[in-house]
Amino acid sequence: MTDVLLFNAPVEQPRGSAHAGLHPPLGLGYIAAVLRDAGYSVSARDLNVTGLNPQLIRRVVSRESPAMVGISAHTETYPNGLEIADLAKAEAPTTAVVMGGPHASVTYEQTAIEPAVDYVVRGEGEYAMRDLASVLVGRDDNDQDELVAEIEEVPGLAYVSADGNVVATPERSMIENPDELPWPARDLFPLELYEKPGNVLFSRGGCPFSCHFCAVNSIWVDRARRFRNPEAVAQEVEHLLVDHGLRQINFADDTFTLRRDAVLELTHRLEAIEAPFPWDWTCSTRVDLVDRELLEQLAHAGCSGIQFGVETGSQEILDATGKNITLDQAREAVSAAAEFDMDVLASFMFPHPDDTESSIRQQAEFMREIRELGADISIAFTTPYPGTTYAEMTAESDLEVAADDWNEYDAKHLIMSTRNLSFPELEELFEELVRDVGLKKRVTA
Ligand code: SF4
Repeated sequence: MTDVLLFNAPVEQPRGSAHAGLHPPLGLGYIAAVLRDAGYSVSARDLNVTGLNPQLIRRVVSRESPAMVGISAHTETYPNGLEIADLAKAEAPTTAVVMGGPHASVTYEQTAIEPAVDYVVRGEGEYAMRDLASVLVGRDDNDQDELVAEIEEVPGLAYVSADGNVVATPERSMIENPDELPWPARDLFPLELYEKPGNVLFSRGGCPFSCHFCAVNSIWVDRARRFRNPEAVAQEVEHLLVDHGLRQINFADDTFTLRRDAVLELTHRLEAIEAPFPWDWTCSTRVDLVDRELLEQLAHAGCSGIQFGVETGSQEILDATGKNITLDQAREAVSAAAEFDMDVLASFMFPHPDDTESSIRQQAEFMREIRELGADISIAFTTPYPGTTYAEMTAESDLEVAADDWNEYDAKHLIMSTRNLSFPELEELFEELVRDVGLKKRVTA
């Protein structure tokens, strides 16, 4: 018997590329590690590895007979998350089914009323799951009033009360010191099957920026980003290199260089690691959070690849995204990173709410320029995720959303129109852009 069984809801995978770009689910790994530290037995299945296999889910739930099933999903994987919840509930009706992750956090009122979902975890999941487990695991009385009273004391949950209303317990304050968390329980996942097994987090929390297409600040309770101690991060990296034999680490932070002093200290710690073989690392950040000196130090410390979100090639459209960067900053960041021999990826989106034929042609031109400066280009379809300003705009304005289900919120479907262009016009302009820029891979999520 297992106390808590965790599932990572999978994306829809095209045949033949099942494990491309796949990395272990760090969020579930942290939750599992915290639950274990609190004395609970935990198992986990990352269904991105196996695919959504109903028989497997039923078999695991039946065999492990967990007190709690926890499911992590984001918007694209939410329908699969609900299917897992249905399967688990049908197999083990007395098991508590808990949904968490960015999508459920933002849409908790809708998620809580799903028939197979007993509880929703809003925001940071580690301590909410631990506290929920302390109420549910090993419970042998049937006193519903006492159960409800104890659940009400757990911050960061939502559920349907006996009178049919959705109840949200008070917001859970953020973990102030991320160093108090154990390392993610990577042993629960088949590291050898991931294309990118070495993902590590340097920081956690909200973001001081306010990009209109990003939901980060709807998911976290506040905007403050909490950094781990660089020494502890370097120790985790060393463990992955030496004990797991990994040769590449990917820092999974959106804005790796947000705190210059911390990142510089981390690079010195990384340089001091004595690995038995050559290794390197990659990261993502904003073009306004780097300069030549910093990029030179990153490269010196083994950074082999860096991703920058550039988003568009029109300064006017860029200003309207709320990203608060300039095309010149993008030029400078890309050319400096390329000069220090990093693989540079500049990611763009298509389309933005105010795009016109002219701004899309400017985007094509800027993509070519950025590539000349040394970057690879990726492009994703703009997706109005719940919790973003773009989602609010689609609700309030004439922007049209054409999606039948959440699984089309995958950045690979053109689901949002613009104020000036219809879907047929956008499709045509996208084809033109792909041709003009000579993009091989059409869309990346
Ligand atoms: S896109 Fe990046 S910089 Fe912008 S709000 Fe989101 S995390 Fe912050």
